[in-house]
Amino acid sequence: MQTVFPLPRGGTSRCLAVRLSEKGLRSVRRRHPWIFADSIEKLAPDAAPGDVAVVYDGKKIIGAGIADPDSNVRVRLLSFGASREKVGPELFRRLAGTAAERRTEAGVPGPETDAWRLLNGESDGFPGLVADQYADVLVLKIYTSAFLPHVGDVADALFARYPALKRLALRFSRELSAMSAERRLRLADGMLFPCEPEWNGEVVFRENGLRFLADVRSGQKTGFFLDQRENRARAGALAAGTDSVLNVFSYSGGFSLYAARSGAKRVTDIDFSRQAIAASMRNFELNREIPAVARCRHRGIADDAFHAMGELERAGERFSVVIVDPPSFAKSASERSQALKSYSRLAKSAVRLLERNGILVFASCSSRVGADELFEEVHRAAADAGRPLTEFDRRAEAPDHPALFPESHYLKCLYARVP
Ligand code: SAH
Repeated sequence: MQTVFPLPRGGTSRCLAVRLSEKGLRSVRRRHPWIFADSIEKLAPDAAPGDVAVVYDGKKIIGAGIADPDSNVRVRLLSFGASREKVGPELFRRLAGTAAERRTEAGVPGPETDAWRLLNGESDGFPGLVADQYADVLVLKIYTSAFLPHVGDVADALFARYPALKRLALRFSRELSAMSAERRLRLADGMLFPCEPEWNGEVVFRENGLRFLADVRSGQKTGFFLDQRENRARAGALAAGTDSVLNVFSYSGGFSLYAARSGAKRVTDIDFSRQAIAASMRNFELNREIPAVARCRHRGIADDAFHAMGELERAGERFSVVIVDPPSFAKSASERSQALKSYSRLAKSAVRLLERNGILVFASCSSRVGADELFEEVHRAAADAGRPLTEFDRRAEAPDHPALFPESHYLKCLYARVP
């Protein structure tokens, strides 16, 4: 089935052979999806983004992918082994089917939920591309120019598999927009299809029975942090019947609404983005018919988290549950030690704001900082602040975000009681 949306289809119709060094071959045999420039012995110098790239080990084909000459990851693999399956609509349909089965087996999206990740990049065989559903909207977010000539075929595969989808939002990573690669194909970040002037990119969806509004055209990520769905549910359950919850780095109030629904009397959001605080207020409005949400006293503080937490502490405020879910502080390996210092400061502030026997929920989405080193730092910081933690759980991304190779793990979330 082809959508009516005018998008590039059919790839570039070029198929190139790639020859790799021993190191590159080993990496492909381990089914790692990235081929770095320094592993390539031969690839046509005029390779264009999206050209099909077939990897030979001298005798036979061992993988197939798409070329990305703009990036240090020069080829991104979609399939492994000796298969002669062509990179194109049929392969995209098959991979979308495998991704769907994987999610059914894992029980996602779960009850009363119509927003979830349909394709999670390399771990679903679509390196550099994610696809999310929000009610009837498909959001395709593209991180590599290699997918640009194929984007219509990927959209068709998903529209055919998920009949509830009616609309499409096309998003590009910041890096890709900066390269303006998408302009060569007359595409722009935040394009909406069908191009109805009355649709501004806002869509209301449901997650575990709560209603949320996402701005799929210009919201962060694809409009919502779907990877935290299970942690929101768990933190909500822990907040049941508590007096007060602090949600630091709240974005549009996801964690806050779960806490309010389970009966937390007061919920405070902190986020330095005014739009995020306004979105959280709107999301509370959307759930007014739930009595516990209507009863909850909800407050938003648009301020820097480090500053606002210090102010709350000086004002003598204390909370039963503190949730800390910062953005990635380490975008590169060189920022790791600075990031650990920031996590440490946040953990100290958070435990100082907790009542006796309070609960700390502390997450990080930085793939550059491992769970063990991060949580060691959080434990140390809490102990230094005189409030050592009794950890009772650690979690990762929701199962619609499979992570099948080392670099794809990023989200970790610690749960602890603070006596
Ligand atoms: N917990 C959220 C996702 C948080 S994303 C959810 O479940 O949906 C991180 C948020 O931190 C973003 O909304 C961003 O605006 C905010 N942020 C980043 N740096 C900040 C800072 N220094 N102070 C306050 N908020 C910040």
